[in-house]
Amino acid sequence: MKIICIGRNYLSHVKELNNTSPSKPIIFLKPETAIQPKGHPFFIPDFSNQIHYEVELVIKINKTGKYIEEKFAYKYYDEIGIGIDFTARDIQEKCKKKGLPWEISKGFDGSAQISKKFIKKNKLNTNDIPFKLEKNNLTVQNGNSKDMMFKFDYIISYVSQFFTLKIGDLIYTGTPHGVGSVCKGDILTAYICDEKMLEVKIK
Ligand code: MG
Repeated sequence: MKIICIGRNYLSHVKELNNTSPSKPIIFLKPETAIQPKGHPFFIPDFSNQIHYEVELVIKINKTGKYIEEKFAYKYYDEIGIGIDFTARDIQEKCKKKGLPWEISKGFDGSAQISKKFIKKNKLNTNDIPFKLEKNNLTVQNGNSKDMMFKFDYIISYVSQFFTLKIGDLIYTGTPHGVGSVCKGDILTAYICDEKMLEVKIK
């Protein structure tokens, strides 16, 4: 399986990082090893002094497809979960300045946190899914799928032009504003609507 991530999909987050908003989705990949065994804490890696959380809705692909038309994209997923795209922001900034790929800042071990549970798509209005992240019981990120610049079906269609989608692939659909650092001892909790979906302890 592969992990496909969409960058800069919420204008509020584009602005907070002083980025420009893209006319097409920005895609990057994380390796399978970025997923951490369920229930394990997240260990801050030695190579970074600035690990940021980014809470994101995650689509799970349930069918193999290539060149998927946007109007048929809904057939390729039926569950939505939530994840944290951990980012070594200090390393990413250095790589961006040099014009280099920033995979190591995004794809390191443990960087793709994913909820155990997924919610059936038909139980949600996919164009209006509220989600949030709490750090130590305080809300730090609040998002809603209605604010995505590129919606789920378009993302699937677009991504599938380049990468054949396979069963079990995950697509992280971008983070809203409010990204920030984690420290040892923090607890991150992610929700879809008011349902607790994911908890990560930082060590
Ligand atoms: Mg992200």
